[in-house]
Amino acid sequence: MKSLIYENRSFLKSARIESDGENLVFTRRNISGENRVKINIAQIRKISAQKNMLSYSLKIDRENEKSVLFGGLDQTAVEELKKHLGSLVEIKAAIKQQVVTLEQARKEASRVLDSLSKDFDARPVISYLINQGVQLDSSDIHITPRKEYAVIQYRIDGLLREVARMNSDFYARLMTAIKNRAKLPSYKKSTPQDGSFHFDEDNHDMDIRCATIPTLFGEKVVLRILNTDKNPLFLEDLGISENVLKSYRELISEPQGCVILTGPAGSGKTTTIFASLIHIYNNYEGTVNIATIEDPVEYSIEEFQQTQINPIMGLTFAAGLKSLLRLDPDIMMVGEIRDPETAQTAIRTALTGHLIFTTLHARDSLGVFPRIIEMGIKPGMASSSVTAVLYQRLVRKLCPECRVESSPPPELLKSLSQYGKSIDKYYTSLGCPACSGTRYSGRTGVFELLNVDENIRGMIMEGKPYGDLFDYCREKGMNFLWEDALEKVRSGITDFDEIVRVCPQYSY
Ligand SMILES: [Zn+2]
Repeated sequence: MKSLIYENRSFLKSARIESDGENLVFTRRNISGENRVKINIAQIRKISAQKNMLSYSLKIDRENEKSVLFGGLDQTAVEELKKHLGSLVEIKAAIKQQVVTLEQARKEASRVLDSLSKDFDARPVISYLINQGVQLDSSDIHITPRKEYAVIQYRIDGLLREVARMNSDFYARLMTAIKNRAKLPSYKKSTPQDGSFHFDEDNHDMDIRCATIPTLFGEKVVLRILNTDKNPLFLEDLGISENVLKSYRELISEPQGCVILTGPAGSGKTTTIFASLIHIYNNYEGTVNIATIEDPVEYSIEEFQQTQINPIMGLTFAAGLKSLLRLDPDIMMVGEIRDPETAQTAIRTALTGHLIFTTLHARDSLGVFPRIIEMGIKPGMASSSVTAVLYQRLVRKLCPECRVESSPPPELLKSLSQYGKSIDKYYTSLGCPACSGTRYSGRTGVFELLNVDENIRGMIMEGKPYGDLFDYCREKGMNFLWEDALEKVRSGITDFDEIVRVCPQYSY
């Protein structure tokens, strides 16, 4: 008799595992149909489950047979399977290693760097620094030469933290090795350079983006860790409040139009776009073509068609988008609108029956329109093509280990009262070893969603001032970024200091 061990119908994770007592049957739905593997249980030596970006994959080792790979499972599937097969299933350490504190990292880094001899091997040092960056959950490693030494800093939850200093001569040797690894000419020191390399060591598998720039005291390098495993890729996990999420889901379900994400660099825009694309892809059960043009490709999703721009070879955002259009895509993502040509192409794409996602630098959600118009787009075109603007920033979450109830700051109460709100319990944090004294741990998004309705379209076409648009949105009940941030404080996720640091609180 066949028994069902596990089933998931969500497309990107669509999988089924069944057993008839003798065999295990793994089924996965693909664009091209079903992919089924039948394996005799007696033959199974070991099943190792390893976590990838979105899901788990299984490697099934068989007696005298080659091993089989089966992907697209969630944690429940792995647990169910373990219940069924017991010790045959081995869960491999998640790619993210044990987290270290900043203090531990500092001690360890000084020990490693101080023990180097003049002719040290630089490759393991690079690996060491990247590994440490991942353990600290950092997004970038900055190595900056100063007059007498180079300083090594990690960007953690958006802020730069110094971890170690390095003798200048040693730094020169390390720099040469980094540039060699990123295939950059190490003898060229007077121009900025941009390269990348793949890092596949110690359970990590990710891309490292390498950018250098000449400074007064030598070349500086920034290594960006594209460790996509740590970010949630589902809309529900980003911190969007329930009613905003509801209207955002509706807006991105329109078959055409331009959805723009705005916010400073490093505010999670790409993560939100990918979560949106995955949501749409799942809604259509994989029957749509999703194509992206990016710089850099941060998340690689097997089911999407992704292209990295390469301006030196003439592959710019605008050129890439034009070529894409000839390939009959349904939904497109263009990394960023930086120039009038990309703006023109993106807007025209949205007006010709496609759904397109992109990002643009602007002061807030309403500020997107003057920026596009500045780039030479007619107000009528801008307003009729853009269907939604999502403005976002990331705030750090209070460390759960040292979070305490406290009396709310008077400024917070004042700000809340302007919106007719109050607060029951106010939380802040004290700093502890778990958060390296930073008081925070991890980040979540704060959002402002502009739903571009007919009235807003009319006002933009008539060239109405920002204040009029702001007032209209306020009357309509739109939640601005600052209000969303206040909500995050009211629910004890973060504190007032943090939202003041991250979110502007102007009202035009
Ligand atoms: Zn703490």
